[in-house]
Amino acid sequence: MKSYKIEAFENLVDAFGSLPSIGKKSAIRLAYHAVMEDGFAAMKLAHAIETGVNAIHKCSKCHNMSEDELCSICSDPYRDSSKLCIVQSAKDILTIEESGQFNGVYYVISEVRDLDEAHLFYAVGGVDEIIFAFPPSIATDTMILYIEDKLKGFEVKFTKIAQGIPTGVELENVDMVSLSRAMQARVKI
Ligand SMILES: [Zn+2]
Repeated sequence: MKSYKIEAFENLVDAFGSLPSIGKKSAIRLAYHAVMEDGFAAMKLAHAIETGVNAIHKCSKCHNMSEDELCSICSDPYRDSSKLCIVQSAKDILTIEESGQFNGVYYVISEVRDLDEAHLFYAVGGVDEIIFAFPPSIATDTMILYIEDKLKGFEVKFTKIAQGIPTGVELENVDMVSLSRAMQARVKI
C-alpha cells in the first residue's frame, strides 16, 4: 500500500514526542502548529533550544546550571558559603531560590553512584551546616545516610528540610509556602 506519510512532519512529531510529559496527541498538535501555523515562533524556539544547549553546562563547583565556569550563586560573595544545601536536581535550586528562604550555597547529587567523593569533599570545605533538600522517600533517606557516612570526617551539622513536603513528590511540584516552611523548620539528623 502506498504511504502518504510526510517524513519531515513525522520526524518533528517524534522529536516533540521524545520530550518529557509530551504524549502523541500533543506532539502532533505542536508539530502542526510549528510548521503550519506559526513558523516564526517555531524558528525562535529552535534557535533558543540550540543556544541554550550550547551555552548552559554544569557549574564546576556545585553542578548547578551555568553559562560560566562557576554559576551565579557560587560566584556571589554575599551568599553564606558556610551553609550547603544538597539537592537532587539543579531544577530544585530554581525552586528553592524562588522561595527566597535560603542564602547559602548548593550541591547537586542526582545519583549516589555518580558521586565524585573528592569533588564533594572540595565543595564541603569551610561548610558548617549541610541541609538535605530531598523529597522524602526511602531511596532519598538511604542517600542521606550514605552521604553522611562519606562526610563523617567533617565537622558539620546535618539537617534536612522539615514538615510540609509530601512523600514521593518532586520538589518542583511542592507549593512555595510548604517549601518555605520546610526550609525554615529544618531538623537535625
Ligand atoms: Zn555553582
